Amino acid sequence: MAAWLMLAKDASKRIGEGYDDNPETHYSWDDTVPNHSTVKVGDVIALWDAAELLGLSVIEDIMLGKATKRTPYCLKCDKADMAERKKKLPRFVCWNSDCKHESDTAGWKTKSVVTYRSRHEAGWIPARGTLTAPELRALCLKPRSQNSLRELHWSQFQQALEHGAVPLPLNIIDTAHQAIQGGHGTATIRVRKGQPAFRKQLLAIFGEVCAFTGPAPVQALEAAHLYSYAANGKHHKGGGLLLRRDLHRLFDLGLIAVNPKAKALHLLDELKSFPDYAKLHNATLAVNVTEEHVKWLTKHWTMHREAAAPNVIPQQSDATNHAPAKHGSCQVSV
Ligand SMILES: [Zn+2]
Repeated sequence: MAAWLMLAKDASKRIGEGYDDNPETHYSWDDTVPNHSTVKVGDVIALWDAAELLGLSVIEDIMLGKATKRTPYCLKCDKADMAERKKKLPRFVCWNSDCKHESDTAGWKTKSVVTYRSRHEAGWIPARGTLTAPELRALCLKPRSQNSLRELHWSQFQQALEHGAVPLPLNIIDTAHQAIQGGHGTATIRVRKGQPAFRKQLLAIFGEVCAFTGPAPVQALEAAHLYSYAANGKHHKGGGLLLRRDLHRLFDLGLIAVNPKAKALHLLDELKSFPDYAKLHNATLAVNVTEEHVKWLTKHWTMHREAAAPNVIPQQSDATNHAPAKHGSCQVSV
């Protein structure tokens, strides 16, 4: 599996350059960047901010476009080797080794470039606090590279994350990769934050109630939108639930899942050491859900429990006397 370390542009610069990138969903580059056409759909993308790793995912698709780009050139030697400094002055320095001219001014040329924009929303795993910049550089095929797209040693990178202090649901990467590459395998299910209109709709259906814990302040409730995607990167519509913000996050990462048969919460052991969360283990859903919800919750369960680690599946062969779901009281049309 090919993996790329990509430098996330800082927000102010992104806006200035007309990008609307969000590191969690998109990444843009153009053909002035080395490796620009080597990056492929299905590759792992790891984003960093020059200080630490931000997160990683799998590229779902890459859109090509055309744009014009203003680039500086050296007024002394006329070469396009002029680099703009972030902090130091003078503002420009010429990289042409025969010139090395430093100046506060540069010439500007407009040239047309091919633009690339990748999408990687479904598999995104936040990973702040796991690997530092020096650690990331050491995991690159060329540790001394200054490129914005750098190839990573995937197996070493994966190992470093697995042995780090922060547990990450790296199985998402494998299932996303399989789904994108083959169109088969376990569907990757993620929980996306819903749009304001969708949240309003869910509030009208469920009231100010967290689906996992019951009544909650409306300010703490988020619309969680379950979705999947197929090989063509198309998003499918699915059920939505209102979840307390922290639970939304834990559910997205699979630390909490819903056992679709019992319609009860299942927590990974690492959560059970926190008393506030521990009491949620085996708690039944606080709202009535539709068949559509159960379908999506089952996919989420399959991905995070059955496919990920079979040993954590609770043995529940008997039909326990959980309250049967009362269907029909809520209708989610999305
Ligand atoms: Zn020069």
